[in-house]
Amino acid sequence: MFQKILIANRGEIACRVAATAQAMGIKTVAVYSDADANAKHVQACDESVHIGASAPSESYLCWEKIIQAALATGAQAVHPGYGFLSENQAFAQACADVGLVFIGPPPSAIKAMGLKAESKQLMEKAGVPLVPGYHGKDQSSALLKSQADRIGYPVLIKASAGGGGKGMRAVEKSEDFDAALASCKREAISSFGDDAVLVEKYAQRPRHIEIQIFGDSHGNYVYLFERDCSVQRRHQKVLEEAPAPGLSPAMREQMGQAAVAAARAVNYVGAGTVEFIVEQKSDGSMNFFFMEMNTRLQVEHPVTEAITGLDLVEWQLRVADGQKLPLAQHELQINGHAIEARICAETPDNNFLPATGTLLVYRKPICTSFERANVRIDDGVREGDSVSPFYDSMVAKLIVHGKTREEALARMDAALAQFHIVGLSTNVQFLRHVVRSASFANADLDTALIPREAAVLFHQEPIGLSLAVAAAVAQTLQHERTLQGADPFSRRDGWSSHGVLTRLFDFEFQDQAVRASLTYLHDGALALSVGDVSSALVFSAAQQTLDVQFAGQRLVVTVYKNKQVLHIFSSIGATRIVNVDRLAHAGESHDSGGRLTAPMPGKVVSFSIKAGDKVVKGQALAVMEAMKMEHTIAAPADGVVQELLYAPGDQVAEGADLLTMKV
Ligand code: ADP
Repeated sequence: MFQKILIANRGEIACRVAATAQAMGIKTVAVYSDADANAKHVQACDESVHIGASAPSESYLCWEKIIQAALATGAQAVHPGYGFLSENQAFAQACADVGLVFIGPPPSAIKAMGLKAESKQLMEKAGVPLVPGYHGKDQSSALLKSQADRIGYPVLIKASAGGGGKGMRAVEKSEDFDAALASCKREAISSFGDDAVLVEKYAQRPRHIEIQIFGDSHGNYVYLFERDCSVQRRHQKVLEEAPAPGLSPAMREQMGQAAVAAARAVNYVGAGTVEFIVEQKSDGSMNFFFMEMNTRLQVEHPVTEAITGLDLVEWQLRVADGQKLPLAQHELQINGHAIEARICAETPDNNFLPATGTLLVYRKPICTSFERANVRIDDGVREGDSVSPFYDSMVAKLIVHGKTREEALARMDAALAQFHIVGLSTNVQFLRHVVRSASFANADLDTALIPREAAVLFHQEPIGLSLAVAAAVAQTLQHERTLQGADPFSRRDGWSSHGVLTRLFDFEFQDQAVRASLTYLHDGALALSVGDVSSALVFSAAQQTLDVQFAGQRLVVTVYKNKQVLHIFSSIGATRIVNVDRLAHAGESHDSGGRLTAPMPGKVVSFSIKAGDKVVKGQALAVMEAMKMEHTIAAPADGVVQELLYAPGDQVAEGADLLTMKV
């Protein structure tokens, strides 16, 4: 076995790989960029090497520097994690050329599976079922369109070199084909440097079910069952689970064997995932079709680990070391049910716009010892770390296991409730809504689950106005008490020995101004009025929490204050309320006029207008790319564009004006 490996990645996956290596007595070398100088993954490894500036192209994608670091530190093998160089054939080859073991498949297998169109042709030969479609060489627009018309709508146009949900367009009808093709090609060129596409039938009520496979260098293959990753946003996975609900043992075996056939066809070695799209017909039957093979460890591998009791990174290391697979197919079995949630820095209510910022509060679920065995958190951050615009927006993965799906679901909901993050917006609340939605709870899964359940997933406030205000007032009073001490004569909280005192509070809740009045009664009791609701306010504090009772409701909350904003977390959900200091805000205005600003730090991709153009409200003016996603900047009102302040390719800071417009 290797004595030392280099981990050519960052974040949670680098920490994940380091944990197994450590358990196996293997030393680890981390690589890091400027932005990651103090990152968790650097501390998780035994040694570390700085490899360059923050932009991935100057550090984590710079394979010459990584190979140099491996040689300089005496590492014998390189684990690429996922993303970055993990599916880069040239990198795998370059490692081999200098005598480093690439912990992954041979370069030839990466190449064979790297392009969607070519891999489909290979799979066709290997007898693996394919979605009806066109994946030929001729790329003329007219031919592609006639193929789409032949296949029948809806169709999906996919960039052949695509990945990560990018470079895909669904087309409903023939008239829309040309525009979708053009935009798909543009994204494909800018993201993958290759604008070849394929066209395929858009499956009915599709589910994404993938098979984890493993191969060794002795020609042995096994499948480690499936993962259902149907819950997606922007064609990217949000929740993953294993096993796939409703999958019959017969279909599991068929899919497993098809996946092994796919792996065998390219002499695959190591961990890989064969992704299938499963069509659910109205008569309840299901068909599966090959989509693509990912030639690396997946983000969602922990759900497979949870149901099989295996460590897939350990298997990767053993296979890379030339050992045989530790178990044969008949020795593998499924135990219980596991679900993973991807906790991301983003704003689901604003089209999942990625967010950046500092994790001022980052508290993970506190589990009992029994729960701890069933709740796993894989992350690459600590409280105080920041989520920068340079890398992925995923902050952590929460993985739960249960004897049944119901048990796993309940555990997921409880654990999400205890995930407290302040400092940037995250999808934690949204994930709770998804887990509780009727579709997810009943395992009524398909890739349209999120749009179908939109009414209960977005713009939900779990804690009502009066309870939020009561919690905020209680928090303020509790804070004052701890500052002032318990002596009533030195308290400044309105206590008075002669007469009733009333104190006013101003808040902003869900963009609405709210005034609350608190009355200190003679007997020390408190009365609170919020709008039409007036009632006694009773609360008690214990360590981090406040037990608040108001107007017939009772809630145990944890409140964190960040400047004027109070972040309230509870078992029923989280919310925020702003403590308005009217004097400080006097005269401030929120008018943004005709300015167009970058919603987040990123790169300008293109402008679809030039100075002097007349534009209408809502018209797309510019495209920005940040955190691996494209964002369209639309005109806030009708007007005339005056000046473009940046050029395509420029990096811009959050809030920077991209152009000026006269409205
Ligand atoms: P990527 O490599 O970008 O992840 P995939 O080919 O794996 O792209 O597809 C991503 C997702 O797009 C799938 O998980 C599925 O939700 C959807 N999808 C892909 N192909 C089809 C299809 N033929 N019909 C319906 N949905 C599809």
